[in-house]
Amino acid sequence: MKDDSGPCKAITKAANSWAVQPNLLDYGKTCDQFSWATARRELDGLPENKGLNIAHEAVDRHANGPRGDRLAIRWLGKDGGVRDFSYSDLKRQSNRFANVLRKLDIGRGERVFTLAGRVPELYFSAFGTWKNGSVFCPLFSAFGSEPIYQRLSKGDAKVLVTTERLYKQKVAALRERLPQLKHILLIDAAQDIGEGLWSLPRRMEEAADAFIIPPTDPEDMAIVHFTSGTTGMPKGAVHVHNAVLTHYLTGKYVLDFHPGDVFWCTADPGWVSGTSYGIIAPLVHGVTNIIDEAEFDAKRWYQLLEEQQVNIWYTAPTAIRRLMRLAIDPTKQYDLSHLRCIHSVGEPLNPEAVSWGQQSLGLPIHDNWWQTETGGIMIANYPAVDIRPGSMGLPLPGIEAAIVRRGTGERVEAVTEPGTQGELALRPGWPSMFRAYLHEEQRYRKCFVGGWYITGDLAYRDADGYFWFVGRADDIINTSGHMVGPFEVESALMEHPAVTEAGVIGKPEALIGELVKAFVTLKPGTKPSEELRLELIGFARKKLGSAVAPKEIEFRNNLPKTRSGKIMRRLLKARELGLAEGDTSTLEVDE
Ligand code: ATP
Ligand code: MG
Repeated sequence: MKDDSGPCKAITKAANSWAVQPNLLDYGKTCDQFSWATARRELDGLPENKGLNIAHEAVDRHANGPRGDRLAIRWLGKDGGVRDFSYSDLKRQSNRFANVLRKLDIGRGERVFTLAGRVPELYFSAFGTWKNGSVFCPLFSAFGSEPIYQRLSKGDAKVLVTTERLYKQKVAALRERLPQLKHILLIDAAQDIGEGLWSLPRRMEEAADAFIIPPTDPEDMAIVHFTSGTTGMPKGAVHVHNAVLTHYLTGKYVLDFHPGDVFWCTADPGWVSGTSYGIIAPLVHGVTNIIDEAEFDAKRWYQLLEEQQVNIWYTAPTAIRRLMRLAIDPTKQYDLSHLRCIHSVGEPLNPEAVSWGQQSLGLPIHDNWWQTETGGIMIANYPAVDIRPGSMGLPLPGIEAAIVRRGTGERVEAVTEPGTQGELALRPGWPSMFRAYLHEEQRYRKCFVGGWYITGDLAYRDADGYFWFVGRADDIINTSGHMVGPFEVESALMEHPAVTEAGVIGKPEALIGELVKAFVTLKPGTKPSEELRLELIGFARKKLGSAVAPKEIEFRNNLPKTRSGKIMRRLLKARELGLAEGDTSTLEVDE
C-alpha cells in the first residue's frame, strides 16, 4: 500500500531528503553520526553548558520562549471536566514539585514512584522529578498490592505519589516491608496526615514557583520503567536523560510532529509508550498533548478525535481490534478530517487492521516496533516510506538492526539472506538504550552478545529491508520440524470475518513435537459452533498449509492480556497444560 494520501505528504518530502538512502539496508550506518548529532544541535541543553535534562527540553525551553502560552496539556477528566495547561503553567507546576522534593531532601538518583490514574499531578510529578535530578518510576494504578510491593522494593522507592484511596487500599499494609519508602505525597489529601503522609496540594501551595535545574549529565538516570511482563517477571529498565534525543527524533520523523499539532497517545504512563510518547516526545516538540483520564470506550474515543481535532494519534493493536469489531462507521458518524497520521505499537499489527484503517478511518495505520529496553521507536513504517501492511517497517536512520543467528559463546552471525528467520538484534549505542535492569546485572549482560543487543523477538527481513515480526523467541512453535510464529497463524485467522482476535500456542505432542492450537474470540453476534470451528480450521489450512495451520481451535470470550494490551500466550499455554501460571502481576483482561 502506498502512503501517499493526505497531508502526510509534507513530511514525506522533508524526511525523504534526509532519510532515504539508495541502499536501504545500509542507511543505519550512514546516518548514524548525522541524526543523533542533529538532534543534539536542535535541542537546547541546559543554560551555561550544564548538561541535558528531559524536563528542560520538554517544558522550560518552550515556556522560556515567546510561545510559553501555547497549550501543552489538555486534560480530559472521566466525568467531563477539562483542564488546560500552557507550557508556562507546566513549568510553574513542575518547578513547585521539584521544590517539594527538595524540601523533603530527595536528591539526585533517588526514585520517585507514581501510582495514580492519568491525572495532571502525575505529569507535574514527572517533570518535577527530572528537574530535581531524581528518577521517575510510573506504575499502573490498577496494579494489586503485591505487584506494587515488588516494584517499589526492587526500585528502592523513596517517594510515592498516589491518592488517599489507593494508598489505603494497596500501600498502607506494605509500609513495614518498605522501610526505605520515606514519603507519600497524596494528590487529593487536604491536610498532612503524619507518618510521612503529606498533602501534595499543601506542599505545592507552599513551594516556590522558581527552580533552577541543577547540572544534569546526559547519562544521569532519569527513568526506571518496568517491562510488560508478557514473557515472565517484569524487569526494571533504566533510562537516562540522553534518551530525549531518541524521543525528539522519533517524534519528528515517525510520529510526524509539526508546530500546532494536536496529539493523542492512548497509552498509560505505566507502560513505556505512555511515558516516552504520552509525556516526553510531544512536549519536546511543543505540540499539544491530549490526556484522557478514561479507559477505552469506542464512542468517547471517536468523539475525542473529533472534538479535540486530533492530528496525530498513537495507539495499540488491541484497541484497534476492539474498534474493528464494532458496528460503527467512524468517518460517517464522526468528523475525523483533522487526523493526519495514525500509529500503532505494542504487538504486531495484523495486515487486516492496516486496511481497516484505510477503509474506515480514511488513513492507513503505521505500525512501529520497540521495547521498554529501547526506550523509543526503533523500526517503523514511518511516513517517509511506503507502508508494508503486516511489517514493522524499516529501522530508523541511526539504528542498525539485523537478523542474527547465535553460535556458541560470543559468536553471532548476521543473516543477510532475505526472508530468513532469526533473532532480531540491534547494534548498541542509540541514546535511549536501557543502561541496566535494576539490580539484575546478569540478566542485563545476557542481552548483549557479540556486539549486538539481542531483543528476544524473532523476525525476518525482506529484500527491501523491511522487518517482519515472527514471534517472541519464547513463543515459537516447533511442529513437525517447522518453526511457526504465532503471529502468522493469528493474522490468517483474523482474516476470517467471524474472528476478532486469536492467540496461538504450541502444545507438546508426541509425534510432531508441538501441535498448533488457537484460542479465538468472535465478533459480537457470532455464535461459536462445531461447524464454525471446522470452517476456521479449513480456512487456516487454505491460507497457511496444513503443516502450519492450527489443529485445534477453542473459542473464548476474551484472551488474557497484560495491562499494556498484549496477549499473554504463556498464560494460555500454562493453563492448557495445567502448569504454574508464573508471574501474573500485569494481567488485566482475563478469559
Ligand atoms: P516482558 O519483557 O516483561 O516479557 P514485553 O516484552 O511485552 O514484556 P514491552 O517492552 O512493553 O514488554 O514490549 C516490547 C515487546 O512488544 C517487543 O519485544 C515485541 O515482542 C512486542 N512489540 C512491540 N511492538 C511491536 C510491533 N510493532 N510488532 C510486533 N511486536 C511488537
Ligand atoms: Mg520484553
